[in-house]
Amino acid sequence: MEFINAVNIIQSGGGEGWFGTTHNMNIYRGCNQGCIYCDSRSSCYQIKDFDTVKAKKDAATKIESELKSKRKTGVISMGGMSDPYNFLERELEYTRKSLESINKYKFGVSCITKNVLLERDIDLYKKINTHSPVTIGVTITTADDRLQSRIERNISSTSKRFELIKKCAEEGLFAGILMMPILPFINDTISNIEQIVSQANEAGAKFIYPSFGVTLRDNQRLYFFEKIGEKLTNQYIEAFQDSYVCVSPNQKQLKKRFRELCKKYGILYKMNDIVEASKTYIKTSQITLDL
Ligand code: SF4
Repeated sequence: MEFINAVNIIQSGGGEGWFGTTHNMNIYRGCNQGCIYCDSRSSCYQIKDFDTVKAKKDAATKIESELKSKRKTGVISMGGMSDPYNFLERELEYTRKSLESINKYKFGVSCITKNVLLERDIDLYKKINTHSPVTIGVTITTADDRLQSRIERNISSTSKRFELIKKCAEEGLFAGILMMPILPFINDTISNIEQIVSQANEAGAKFIYPSFGVTLRDNQRLYFFEKIGEKLTNQYIEAFQDSYVCVSPNQKQLKKRFRELCKKYGILYKMNDIVEASKTYIKTSQITLDL
């Protein structure tokens, strides 16, 4: 197990970010979950030896004291740069301990993960949700477990992730999907989008936040090309040259079908609506408790 020093672990987001978050928190550095498209491995983030997960030394204690010293509460984002439920977390429980502090100091939380280990901490998310917004965002890029195991290699299967969403929804948490990236020529099919939205509905997902493309830069691009092989690499180069944003050529049709289905099932997909709904979820909990 490798530890690194970090002066501060919680950073102010400088306003309201995705899912209404006001602060960012990354307890771990690097990630071994092997997503071939991972943006966090880009050289601009300067993470050496990205595939080895490092834990920030004394993270739980530091987070407790950082939260305690804040004058205003807010919503903490977890999982922006590294999955908070990686394999080290099972033993270290830094994410769990941080949730205890988040609850103690009355902050809200938005957690993004691909790992079903999150289920262990549902009790804490429920406690936080009695006073603050909680958003559970599970990333799902393909409904096909076989394809998923090739593009996200060391992590819970898509089927297991849908089960996690179902469990969170049954426990009354505001849970949904980050449907990104949708990779051109790989998972950008109507059938994939239809299956994801339909299974999301069955699992009780409240939202799906999509992106019908992928961003690629420097060494992240090289890594991605190495993994997808020569034929697909040539397709990417022909379609996008060295553009940072690579939007699916099927975007228009995918988006249309996606929106139709989300409307049919009452699933939110616009960020403003998702943030507003996450706030309403607290009131619902309070009303339930008052009764
Ligand atoms: S889980 Fe997230 S941080 Fe880890 S490799 Fe995949 S995209 Fe990157």
